[in-house]
Amino acid sequence: MIRLFVLSAFLAFASAVHAQPARSVPELAGLDRVYPTLDALYQDLHRNPELSKHEDKTAAKLAARMREVGFEVTEHVGGTGIVGILRNGNGPTVLVRTDMDALPLKETTGLPYASKVTTKSEGGEVTPVMHACGHDIHMASWVGAATLLSGLKDRWHGTLVFIGQPAEEMVSSANAMVKDGLFTRFPKPDFVLGLHDTSPRRRVRLDALRVGAGREARAGLDRDTHAA
Ligand SMILES: [Zn+2]
Repeated sequence: MIRLFVLSAFLAFASAVHAQPARSVPELAGLDRVYPTLDALYQDLHRNPELSKHEDKTAAKLAARMREVGFEVTEHVGGTGIVGILRNGNGPTVLVRTDMDALPLKETTGLPYASKVTTKSEGGEVTPVMHACGHDIHMASWVGAATLLSGLKDRWHGTLVFIGQPAEEMVSSANAMVKDGLFTRFPKPDFVLGLHDTSPRRRVRLDALRVGAGREARAGLDRDTHAA
């Protein structure tokens, strides 16, 4: 699944920036090389989930990985949100989003890396926590796309804005990031890309929005991709 999500994010970026058939992008060959580290990150995130607005360790892990691959990272944007910037000359600005929070649910998958985490909820009750919504996959894939793009700066031009959004489950922190200057402190995007699994059909929902004035500025890059 991580491969599929990295693929989707990368291909959406290529479509937005180059307007070329996405599947002709040869640079994806680098995915095999970085995949072991992405899988290790995925298992770490899955084993250590954090509830909405408490994604402190999760955000710190993502920030560290993004700095390793050359992004300029700002933390604590709209709470635990992070913003990573990679500038590469003139060209479009593309924002790629991942969500970071987990759910107050008990994991019963029996996986070797299953979550055993419990924490106190907003109401003060002890609750189990797990990544039941796929945000661990989203985050690992987000790092994967950033890693590949950072290594291919001779093949694209523009600015990448990679954001880690807190509290997607509460539908509140996207607004908090905007209020904290997401579009004023950082480069304003021409395109916004976000993706989410749609279990149980095992599909990737990828939404892309071309930012601009007028109805005609909205680009139809929505794509459903079947999982392998
Ligand atoms: Zn979700």
